[in-house]
Parts: sequence; C-alpha cells; structure tokens
Amino acid sequence: MLEKYTPNRLCRDYAEPNFPDLLSFIAVVKGVKPVMSNFIRYNRYRELEKMCNKYGVFVTHNNYFLEVPTRSYLKEAGKDSKQKIVNYITEHSTTKWIAFPNDDPRKNRFVQVFISKSKNLANDALKFGWTTTVVGNHFVQFDLIDMLNFGKLLGYPDCCVEFFCNRLMDVEIGARKPYIIYRNTVGEPSFYCNNILAYFSNYSLISHFPCSFNCKNTIKKSKELLDIIKEEEPEYAKKIEHHLKLPLLVFRDKRAIVFDGVIKNGEIIYSDCIFLGLKHALDESEIYKFETFKEGDSLKVVKDEILIFKNDELLHSIKREDESFGFPLKFH
Ligand SMILES: [Zn+2]
Repeated sequence: MLEKYTPNRLCRDYAEPNFPDLLSFIAVVKGVKPVMSNFIRYNRYRELEKMCNKYGVFVTHNNYFLEVPTRSYLKEAGKDSKQKIVNYITEHSTTKWIAFPNDDPRKNRFVQVFISKSKNLANDALKFGWTTTVVGNHFVQFDLIDMLNFGKLLGYPDCCVEFFCNRLMDVEIGARKPYIIYRNTVGEPSFYCNNILAYFSNYSLISHFPCSFNCKNTIKKSKELLDIIKEEEPEYAKKIEHHLKLPLLVFRDKRAIVFDGVIKNGEIIYSDCIFLGLKHALDESEIYKFETFKEGDSLKVVKDEILIFKNDELLHSIKREDESFGFPLKFH
C-alpha cells in the first residue's frame, strides 16, 4: 500500500530520483496543467533544472530558503516575542515555514519551485506563490489576492480557488479543512477529488483542496490526466484508482489514516493501515495514538470515540476532539 511507483516510460527520469508530486509534473509536461509548485532541498535544485530541460519545461525558485519549524524551535521560542507568532502559526496555519535569506550559509534548506512549459507563467507563479512565513521575529501572513491569483495560475478550478480563499482560509477552520470540504459534498465522494493522499504518495490526481469531494470541475481535470496515464501507463492508472478508493479515517489536514480494507455496516475492516501525517508536527503521544491502529483489524466511529478491535475484542478507544476529528471517508 502506497508503495513508490516508477512508470516504465512516462516521466520516469523525474520519478526515479524521487522528485515530488510526479502526477503534477506529468500534467505539466502533457499540457493539462499550466504550472506546478512544490518544495525541494536546495542542493537538488541543479539536478531538477537539468531534468526540466530534458522534458522541455522551465523551472524557477523563490529567493529565500525555507525550513519547517520543529518542535525544538517552538520550545526555544519560549516566552520571548516569538511566542505570539508561534502560537498563531500553530493554531491557525497548517503550512508553517521559517524564511532565511538565500545568502545563509546553510544551504541544505527548502526552496519553493515553480515549473511550467511557459517561462512567463512560471515567473508569474513565483510572484504570487508564497506561504505564511516567519521571518526573524516577524510573522508574514500571505495575501488572499495573491493566493487567488496563485491558485488560478496552478490551473485549479475557479470554484475551488474561491472556496479555498472564502471558506477554508478562515482562521476558525484551521486544520479542519477536509471536514469542511466533506460537509460541502452532496452525494458520493469521487476518487477524482481525493486530495488526502497528496504529499504522501504518487497516487493523487490533484494537489489542491477541492470545493467538494465531487466537484465537477475537479473531476473533469483529474479525468483528463488519468486518461493520459491510462493510455501510456495503464498499470499505473489502475494503481492510482485503487489507492484513491481505499477507506480513510481523516483527522485534520495532512493527518489521516489509510486502510487496506473495506467499509462494511459503518465499520472499517482492515489488514493494514498507514498513518499519513507530518510527524514533525506531532508530539510523541499523538504518534503513539496513531500507531495503535496498527494493532487492530477493525474499527467503529461512534459519537465521541473511535473504537479499535482485534478479533471482535475491544483493544483501544480514542477520544474524538469533535465531529471533525476522525471521520470515515470513502471515495467511489
Ligand atoms: Zn470546485
């Protein structure tokens, strides 16, 4: 489950050395996505640039390095003036970076890259594409207008970009984004709109937050990409569809569990599971909590709890913080 997939031919040279978000790269190379953006370690930038030349696409990067704040950074910030900033990003933003000038000697940091067939579009994306960042003692909140322009440059559907800016950026929502999208979904969630596996595998057809899990415009764009893959790498297409239809238990943005199993009478019955999460953002007790799912073979979500069973015997119960924490999600 979620094993790395290397296509036989299609953008194989991009996939093999593990550059991020293979499907977006394929979409850019095939002309179904205008621009993609992601983060890589700066020491891999030249390698990426060579690769892009080979596929006839242009790449550029922003002029500062980024680093994900670690738990130790958060602790270090302690009671000084950073505390307010740190509290803010911890509670309200799911994407947290610290920015450093690019003459900083420690160059093994991340840069945000922008890749497109069009040099102009990549440069436009560079102007608008930045995220909420801590610079020294300052917290720089990105601008919604920039975000709107950036989303559109990346080829995300207008309905989804507007939903993201109008609804999902609300500070009250914070990391509950998947649940808000779920609540905005009428009818069955479509696997074409499954963004839960993005960041954690090469099986996600989208890299944006859809306005609903059956957004028509997202389905149209995802289908266009999957059709190309079906044609050129049928085995990969099958694996993508299989993975996107696996049962999920979703906690927060970039915090979910994917199960090798089925949903039956409201229960998830499984033989294996993988926690999808940014481990540096969790503390030990949270990691332990997610690991307990591995011990079970079925689970049930009741009002305030998630009950984990092994051979029909209750093993663990995990408290749900609210109805958005630990909800089952199955795409069709
Ligand atoms: Zn939409």
